[in-house]
Amino acid sequence: MPKGLGAGDQGIQIFLRVRPSQKPSGYLTIDNKDDRGLSFHVPKDEDLYVNNTRTDYKFKFNGILPSQTGQEEVFDKVGSQAVQNALDGFNSTIFAYGQTGSGKTFTITGGSERYVDRGIIPRAISMLFSEFAKNTETQYSCFISYLEIYNDKGYDLLDSDHESTSRLSDLKKVMMLEDEDGNYHLKNLSMHPVSCEEDALNCLFLGDTNRAISETDMNQASSRSHCIFTVSIEGRKQGSDTVTRSKLHLVDLAGSERVHKTSTTGQTLREAKHINSSLFYLEMVIVALHEKGNNTRSHIPYRNSMMTSVLRDSLGGNCKTVMVATVSPERGHTDESISTCNFAQRVA
Ligand code: ADP
Ligand code: MG
Repeated sequence: MPKGLGAGDQGIQIFLRVRPSQKPSGYLTIDNKDDRGLSFHVPKDEDLYVNNTRTDYKFKFNGILPSQTGQEEVFDKVGSQAVQNALDGFNSTIFAYGQTGSGKTFTITGGSERYVDRGIIPRAISMLFSEFAKNTETQYSCFISYLEIYNDKGYDLLDSDHESTSRLSDLKKVMMLEDEDGNYHLKNLSMHPVSCEEDALNCLFLGDTNRAISETDMNQASSRSHCIFTVSIEGRKQGSDTVTRSKLHLVDLAGSERVHKTSTTGQTLREAKHINSSLFYLEMVIVALHEKGNNTRSHIPYRNSMMTSVLRDSLGGNCKTVMVATVSPERGHTDESISTCNFAQRVA
């Protein structure tokens, strides 16, 4: 059986996106031979930035999105297949993984100033509604939910209680419940029916506003929480009673940077521990799915974290899973960029 997450799929696809540099930089070079390799050449005198003795690194990806790559091209390469997969009735997940400031939010949501800077979420919404309109034989219903996970606790970014409080502790917690038949349900996560692109974009905007307000409760703004924007689709073909259901999850992960334990205490350390463990559990699940695909192991440890519990039906099998690993090209970020690439290689 080919390496993959299950029968008939291609496993997780990993893209590397390099943010434009804020300073002149020369160490991130892309191996143009096959457009998939990335080399880090770390000059010896840059040892200051690298905690080990290696100076050359090579990584392989399904695709590289160099700094000049625009949002439209990113959507074409990374987003559109996942949206198509959701339209075809399969669950899909797109993650952005990387250190704070490397472009995760820019990739998933986009920049707010210019229309061309729209990220994967608005473009996915746009594609979905235009496909719904084209496919007149199927009647579609579409629902949005927007979940924030902070210290392994879930909060509904579209909860109307956000109007009256900026404190996370005042909000209802989203809970994962398992019923007698072994089905999972999320309690306290609202699902908003949307009938057009504009309705869906309003949900995104409202959730992002609420996210920005609740950041005051966290240490380093939005980089401390994971956000999952979920579009649930129901399609019913004319003359048929069967309803096809699928979900598209667009995930902006918390910053992957390692927090130095010695200089950290209290809230920051607690946040760092939760982020480290949730990213580790995500890796464990993806790796276990690989192994299951290769028939060597069947237990998938979804229950270890809120994130993996929420995504349990959307990773592996026929689901399409794409990860955009984002890196900052400046020298001072070499360590973190290497660590991001290492994570990407482990889950690939
Ligand atoms: P993260 O979410 O990983 O912390 P952001 O997405 O907020 O990082 O990006 C940090 C800054 O860099 C933002 O001001 C963002 O607009 C900018 N940025 C990131 N990626 C790009 C890109 N590909 N092109 C232009 N600007 C970018
Ligand atoms: Mg961000």
